Amino acid sequence: MVFTTTKNKHKTLSFKDAIFQCLPEDGGLYVPASLVDLRQFFLYMDQNTTYGDLVAAIVPTLFEGELNPISANRVATSAFHFEPILKQLNNHLSVLELHHGPTGVFKDFGIAFLAAVMEEFLGENGYALTITATTGNTGSSVARAFQGRKGLTAVILYPRGTVKGLDPATFVPNGGNILPIQIDGTFDDCQRLIRELFEDRPFINRYHVTSANTINVGRLLPQTFYFLYAFIKIKKFVRGDLLFSVPSGNFGNLLAGLYAWKFGLPVNGFIAATNANDAFGDFFKGKQFIPKAPIQTLSRSMDVANPSNYERLAAFYEEAPAVMRNMVYPKSINDAETREAIRKAWETYKIHLDPHGAVGLAAAEKLLEADLEDGHVVVLSTGHPAKYADLLEELTGKRPVTPPHLQELEKESVPVSIIPPHIDALEAAIAGCC
Ligand SMILES: *Cc1c(COP(=O)(O)O)cnc(C)c1O
Repeated sequence: MVFTTTKNKHKTLSFKDAIFQCLPEDGGLYVPASLVDLRQFFLYMDQNTTYGDLVAAIVPTLFEGELNPISANRVATSAFHFEPILKQLNNHLSVLELHHGPTGVFKDFGIAFLAAVMEEFLGENGYALTITATTGNTGSSVARAFQGRKGLTAVILYPRGTVKGLDPATFVPNGGNILPIQIDGTFDDCQRLIRELFEDRPFINRYHVTSANTINVGRLLPQTFYFLYAFIKIKKFVRGDLLFSVPSGNFGNLLAGLYAWKFGLPVNGFIAATNANDAFGDFFKGKQFIPKAPIQTLSRSMDVANPSNYERLAAFYEEAPAVMRNMVYPKSINDAETREAIRKAWETYKIHLDPHGAVGLAAAEKLLEADLEDGHVVVLSTGHPAKYADLLEELTGKRPVTPPHLQELEKESVPVSIIPPHIDALEAAIAGCC
């Protein structure tokens, strides 16, 4: 697989280079550019195939010439101590639970693979530093995925009070490789600082800086794996069309689904399930994307008004406009419908869904009612219900149980540095430790 940038289709580079360079100097984003056919794998994989087996089997084909079967197996084994769980609700509906990772959010899948594959690529003597701007969960996910990995330091940049549950024993000054830096400022400051840091090429080159935010294709590509996994688990039962309902904010998850289709996944469509922040509704119908102001909703990880994956989606659209028009169904779900879906999931199917998953379910049921008599929709449950225990107890009468690994995330942690939101301060904090 080679990659190009959304701004220049003629320059290609490898997966390894796309991961470690992360942001192209032409201001675009890296996107996969070659045709890979994974259909052979669907023939012999079935319900008994484990997630690790699937990843280990397809990675050498997906990244041919870069990861051999031994490396791929090592990456799959060290990344995934957790796997998706598919629950079939009835003939038309299933839920793919992606919330069983260390921080209870589907983002664990991309981050865990990125960390493991970076370590594999670096080998014995390589070195790289990843930097991630976050307001919470992603910071804990990055810390868990990168801790103890050889040749890697992970800087986590966040506004006061947002990141919790970090283990001081893993911090750089204590002999570990995690470097939490708190900014006296906002999330926008964190993102601006990262942009400024990437403009300081000598610094980037000196410390081998890359990012573990979703701009890194190394997080996006591994998100295709669970779409394939859902298919092999469900293929025996599905008659008619197969669709995925994808609760979307920055649209990384939806893009991964589209890439999975491109690699040969026999899927008939995707529901782009959004909350009231319906950023791309018009765009999916072929109109121009015009950013609006963000609205606060119950599914707050999807309160994104200006999705950073716009360029990648636009590139996909340009390449395959018919696919985007005929395969992506935008559905916007308001908070009242979200609450109703949480209640219904419990009453009808005896499952707890968090508000993000509930948006996915509500969107799926709307589509099933309207025009899909014979199909099957797999709803992605992107977040753990226990993170919304109060809301779920209010709506279902039953409080979801919080597993011990999620309780850990609530512990306050003290950062290694607290800095003003200036690039010099950030560079000094990194240079002082690394
Ligand atoms: C990040 C997130 C989403 C949105 O995913 P995108 O890839 O940004 O569209 C949905 N649900 C939860 C729980 C999330 O954390």
